[in-house]
Amino acid sequence: MEFCDECGSMMKANDGLWECGSCGFTKPKGDTAAYTLTEDQEATEVIESSEETSLPETDARCPECGHDRAYWYLQQIRSADESETRFFICSNCEHKWREDDH
Ligand SMILES: [Zn+2]
Ligand SMILES: [Zn+2]
Repeated sequence: MEFCDECGSMMKANDGLWECGSCGFTKPKGDTAAYTLTEDQEATEVIESSEETSLPETDARCPECGHDRAYWYLQQIRSADESETRFFICSNCEHKWREDDH
C-alpha cells in the first residue's frame, strides 16, 4: 500500500511504478519489501551456518568415539505436545545423537 506524495490518494502498482489514481503522480516502486525479506533470509542463513560452531558445550559421552565433550542444542521434534529434545554433537567426531537415546 502506497499513498501519493502529491495529493495523498491511494496509489496503485503499475509496471514497477506506483501510480496515483487521482493526480497521475508516479514514483518508482520501492524495494522496501524485497529488501527486508532479503535481510531476513540472510539473518536466518547466518544463524544456520554458524549453528554447529556457536553451540554451548557440555559434558556428554559420545556413543561413537567415547569423547566426553559435546555441543548441545534443543529442538522440538513434532508438535507442541512434545517437549523439546536435547541433541548432542560430539566435539571430537561430530557424531550427533539425541539425549533420550541412551
Ligand atoms: Zn496524487
Ligand atoms: Zn565422538
